[in-house]
Amino acid sequence: MKYAPVQNYINGTFVNSGSQRTLDVISPLDGNLLSKVPMSTAKDLDAALQAAKAAFVSWSRTPIKERVQVFFRYKTLLERDLKQLAELCSEENGKTFGESVAEIEKCIELTEFATSLPQLVTGEILEVSKGVECRTEHVPLGVVASIVPFNFPAMVPNWTIPNAIALGNCMILKPSEKVPLCCGKIAALLKEAGLPDGVLNIVHGDVEIVEAICDHPGIEAVSFVGSTKVAKIVYQRATQHYKRALALGGAKNHLMVLPDAIPGMTAQNVAASMSGCAGQRCMAASAMIGVGNVDSIIDKICEEARKIIPGENLGAVISKESKERIESYITEAEKQGAKILVDGRNANVKGKENGTYVGPTVIDYVTPNMSVAKEEIFGPVISIMRTNTVDEALAIENANPYGNAASVFTQNGGMARYIIDRASAGMIGVNVGVPVPREPFSFGGWNESKFGVGDITGKSSIEFWTKLKKSTTKWNPESGVNWMS
Ligand code: NAD
Repeated sequence: MKYAPVQNYINGTFVNSGSQRTLDVISPLDGNLLSKVPMSTAKDLDAALQAAKAAFVSWSRTPIKERVQVFFRYKTLLERDLKQLAELCSEENGKTFGESVAEIEKCIELTEFATSLPQLVTGEILEVSKGVECRTEHVPLGVVASIVPFNFPAMVPNWTIPNAIALGNCMILKPSEKVPLCCGKIAALLKEAGLPDGVLNIVHGDVEIVEAICDHPGIEAVSFVGSTKVAKIVYQRATQHYKRALALGGAKNHLMVLPDAIPGMTAQNVAASMSGCAGQRCMAASAMIGVGNVDSIIDKICEEARKIIPGENLGAVISKESKERIESYITEAEKQGAKILVDGRNANVKGKENGTYVGPTVIDYVTPNMSVAKEEIFGPVISIMRTNTVDEALAIENANPYGNAASVFTQNGGMARYIIDRASAGMIGVNVGVPVPREPFSFGGWNESKFGVGDITGKSSIEFWTKLKKSTTKWNPESGVNWMS
């Protein structure tokens, strides 16, 4: 085992969980055992909650301009330790080192946004009657929770930690049991940056601890990022306990390619979108709809896909089960009559035989009723469907229950606008394969890709992590008499 067993992080200290139950943390790159992670219990959660509750008293009263100083320092620590954090991220998640570097750079951008929050939460004040002022302030909620998935071990925790904490909340973070290591490093960096003990706490585990979070009366809000199946469970259970909840789910993102698209650029973007992070991005292109004759562009996509080599410029998928699931989708599509143009099954990386690699896979002549057309595969696979018109393509996109992202590749601005207006997804790209909005724009899908109001990052997150206090004041009763005096 390469690293010491993972511990919870409570009140600024790494501590053992009360539970004896653990899971192995395996590196997808080579199958080696990295560590063991505890499956924490409701009792562990209670200890984290008491620490967070105690810390909230002074953290919530610390002026926001002081609170964000921690994040200015945290940003420089992320920059200092970027390489080390990126290596850990690749090791536990399986993505390439370059992808992990990009992930930590995104953490830095998210932190920069949090340092700008004092400029955005100034509130409002107005003299509403003679001598009477109304004022609104954004105030923190209290102890909040953030439950995160495996595919971005550092970025998704940083979607919530900087904003929620800079806005004055104290947090309990529940990392993915598959990738618990980066979160420990993030906690250590925040402590070094001067975050007071108890403001951020970490409890590791799986279903039991997530259920305890949803049920605990001391937690005011729960944010969740993961699959739609679990997003629904968490959203329902947290709101049933009267908590504010925002639960981001899975995706099936459609790229529409029109015959006037620039072939080389389109092919590179499609191939990069479907294979980046081994297709394990909620923004990855998973289905492509060729409108009219785009055969030459499909040839180029195959050319680009063949340049993507497992173990070189393509990372591993998270587990053996995941590899088997992805490969069975490809086999099923083949049996149903689809044509496998580039086949990533049975990929092997020399010297890393226990790694879990799937090569880039391009499947053509997929029909909308096939599983590869409808379901989230979460691997480096693109399923190509063909239509004669843009409206037919939109009908396929609109019929899918998810709604995270959609993109169009065209040189026709009017057609691009037509598709932006009609695609049923929260984030739309034009000639962009992975249309992730950068800060300060907020991130969030529609339909079964998100449950709850608002988005998780950017300006929209202010509404989620705060509540409004409205005060009405009068200091000089003699200054006037009206219906409110
Ligand atoms: P997951 O839903 O299996 O797990 C997410 C979290 O929920 C983990 O912390 C896990 O421990 C916990 N969990 C798992 N099963 C649970 C259960 N039955 N009850 C309570 N908690 C449970 O997701 P994952 O496999 O870690 O991540 C991949 C998924 O996340 C994909 O579907 C992907 O699209 C999605 N995702 C979505 C976004 C987005 O912004 N919409 C971003 C990243 C990932």
